[in-house]
Amino acid sequence: MKVVVIGGGAAGQLAAAEAASNGNETVLLEQNEKLGKKLYITGKGRCNLTNTADRDEFIRNVTRNPRFLYSALNTFDHTDICALIEKNGVPVKTERGGRVFPASDKSSDVINALKRNLDRAGVEVRLNTKATGILISDGRVDGVRTNAGIEPADAVIIATGGVSYPQTGSTGDGYRFASEAGHTVVSPKPSLVGLCTKETWPYELTGLTLKNVGMTAKRSGKRIFKELGELLLTHFGISGPMVLSLSSVIADSYENVEISIDLKPALDEQTLDARLLRDLEENRLKTVKGAFHALLPSKLLDAVMAEAGINGEGNVSDFTKLDRRKLLSALKEMRLTVSGTRSVDEAIVTRGGVSVSEVNSSTMESKLVKGLYFAGDVLDVDAMTGGFNLQIAWSTGVLAGRSVGQ
Ligand SMILES: Cc1cc2nc3c(=O)[nH]c(=O)nc-3n(C[C@H](O)[C@H](O)[C@H](O)COP(=O)(O)OP(=O)(O)OC[C@H]3O[C@@H](n4cnc5c(N)ncnc54)[C@H](O)[C@@H]3O)c2cc1C
Repeated sequence: MKVVVIGGGAAGQLAAAEAASNGNETVLLEQNEKLGKKLYITGKGRCNLTNTADRDEFIRNVTRNPRFLYSALNTFDHTDICALIEKNGVPVKTERGGRVFPASDKSSDVINALKRNLDRAGVEVRLNTKATGILISDGRVDGVRTNAGIEPADAVIIATGGVSYPQTGSTGDGYRFASEAGHTVVSPKPSLVGLCTKETWPYELTGLTLKNVGMTAKRSGKRIFKELGELLLTHFGISGPMVLSLSSVIADSYENVEISIDLKPALDEQTLDARLLRDLEENRLKTVKGAFHALLPSKLLDAVMAEAGINGEGNVSDFTKLDRRKLLSALKEMRLTVSGTRSVDEAIVTRGGVSVSEVNSSTMESKLVKGLYFAGDVLDVDAMTGGFNLQIAWSTGVLAGRSVGQ
């Protein structure tokens, strides 16, 4: 059987190797001059290739269509990808939160391991080859049209990725192929991306990282997110690990999302109030801002004072009980309103894609066209950060590759 895999990213490389190992003549088409361009930049160049979370925990980290992934994860999980990478000469290590990286901290080592795996399986890799359409007749896949001509095929696996970081090659071609084949494509949106805020104080503090702060988000008054961690202030609003997670929770709609930042999560209100009183007593002759100088970085303190409506240049002697109350509440609940997200170009993954209701979750085969398969970010599945998204690509890729011809 002749199999053509479109896309030499994480999903496509494993799909092709799996299909070839099962005795199929397999061609992998990649439009770029090399394989795995996006893989190269994953995990800040270290490639967080998977997560050791058990099945339930893994599924809890999948924000979009988790149930669709059961078969794929049963077929190929984190232990399998670690074994495959190690078998191909690259030891891996596990860090905090079950995040797995190559021991060398080099994503290029993972790419090299995948290439060895492709060679071992006997996959024919064609670089600089762009698929431009899928050939279908009588409800069956026939082949792939490419910039180099027609490539006949008995099965085609679309592993073209989503539309995030398009400079890596994921430009959404797979969505077009799918919709031309009759599939529903859920409109793509950014997930795991920075959030823009209506308030401008974060812009003025661009580059400042707040460690160990609490973040709560509510939509129309109902709590939808609560976490403790790191917050990065930027020229558009907020980013950093916690914000990426929140962006995944609100990827479908950021409307009416209010964020509250607890700048002193380790101190309850009573303890923090006692601390404020002590600062005031010890600095009676100073300005208000001077009295609280040790509380927060100076510019952030300005923003908090402004939020609380307090004049930092005033004297401590004029600082009232009500002022203290307002400062306390700004410190515990600094408000931000989400006004949008950064664009999908800057997102780690794409929310949306080929609707999973038209794909068989046990095989990754299209329910509409025989011999057509999907794997990876082109599908409408996505997850939190931590290695989950790559594991989805590996698992769906292997399942598609294993299912062709069966
Ligand atoms: C900055 C960044 C950091 C990330 N870090 C992590 C991380 O540490 N851990 C994690 O789990 N996830 C991470 N991700 C997410 C992860 O990279 C993706 O989930 C994963 O790469 C999806 O794999 P894929 O194979 O589906 O798509 P891709 O990796 O996007 O591969 C698709 C491939 O298809 C090719 N292609 C597209 N159209 C055509 C065509 N018409 N013809 C031929 N070839 C085509 C593209 O050139 C590309 O090579 C990160 C993403 C980004 C952007």
